[in-house]
Amino acid sequence: MKILVINAGSSSLKYQLIDMDNKLVMAKGLCERIGIEGSRLKHTPAGRDSVVIESPMPTHADAITLVISSLTDSENGVISSMSEIGAVGHRVVHGGESFSESVVIDEKVKEGIRGCIELAPLHNPANLIGIEACEKVMPGVPQVAVFDTAFHQTMPQKAYLYGLPYEYYQKYKIRRYGFHGTSHKYVSGRAAEMLNRPLSELRVVTCHLGNGSSVAAIDHGRVVDTSMGLTPLAGVIMGTRCGDIDPAIVTFLMEKEGLDPKAMDAVMNKQSGVLGVSGVSSDFRDLGAAAENGDSRAKAALDMFYYSVKKYVGAYAAVMGGIDALVFTAGVGENNAACRAAVTDGLEYMGVKIDPELNKQRGEMEISAPGAAVHTLVIPTDEEMMIALDAQRLTK
Ligand code: AMP
Repeated sequence: MKILVINAGSSSLKYQLIDMDNKLVMAKGLCERIGIEGSRLKHTPAGRDSVVIESPMPTHADAITLVISSLTDSENGVISSMSEIGAVGHRVVHGGESFSESVVIDEKVKEGIRGCIELAPLHNPANLIGIEACEKVMPGVPQVAVFDTAFHQTMPQKAYLYGLPYEYYQKYKIRRYGFHGTSHKYVSGRAAEMLNRPLSELRVVTCHLGNGSSVAAIDHGRVVDTSMGLTPLAGVIMGTRCGDIDPAIVTFLMEKEGLDPKAMDAVMNKQSGVLGVSGVSSDFRDLGAAAENGDSRAKAALDMFYYSVKKYVGAYAAVMGGIDALVFTAGVGENNAACRAAVTDGLEYMGVKIDPELNKQRGEMEISAPGAAVHTLVIPTDEEMMIALDAQRLTK
């Protein structure tokens, strides 16, 4: 069975075609500037050079049509016809409290995704447009929605409620939802496989550290807490997002700087984080280079990032009564040895100790020091594969 995985943004659309028989990516690509002048599609068949097609894509349906024609193209294609695609798996950012697992898409599901637009105004409308574009271009092919929030729906009330008047939870569904759920689910599942133990026997902390970062506590297979909240702004300090701050700062700054809600939102989402602190970059490679060249604010930003991740690791160990595995994933977690060394430094008391030499290696591996009670693992995330697996399971 071949599954097309779609991640639709407001003006972009990423795709992967995965052959589930051998779990190999057959082709992947990206449509950019949909609905804007200068639309282009970059298509990469596995093991071959990328091709760039510059072609107008006024709508997402036009983008999907172009994706299908690239996949079936006689020269750069990887399948002979659209009928080889057994199902489409869509990444959907917010499932609210309506979706605690992946689902086959029908009118009711679309209504549910629409109902969560208020909670993810930038993402859910784009995800819906992607779904409807596929329905139009690929009628009859089953479609599955996989939600970033779903894996976290097992959190207990004490972890997801905020200390606000309860009526706001009832009226506006204000609560912690958590994000990157597909990634946390994938890497925790892989961790269990690597350790050859069922996930239902393990206490795992997963650190998804990239441009956006979140940490999750997964107790015997169920998420019991996670660092992101109502939105992906909460938790550890990120590339451009502030993470946890004293909420009183928001009204203080709005008054002092004369900011309206939209401008304040932009400060916290786009001008803060390690970019805001360092004034250098939101990219951790740039920050590392600047810190090495003696830039004290870049070093401060990195130290803040490591410290905030470490605090969550400690908090979640407290929540679960210790941990069996600590997992690092995503751009920074997978590639940045200095980050893993700093986050785990001093955690020997709770059984975490990494081997400095193993920590320098790359790829999926265990980096624990011999005899460490906790397994520290680096696991490259694969959200697309997780989406494809769910799509396959639900449509087989
Ligand atoms: P993501 O959002 O998961 O794509 O992660 C993006 C972040 O990962 C950026 O800040 C990059 O600097 C960082 N990153 C990606 N590759 C590397 C690498 N090889 N070494 C260090 N950081 C990296």
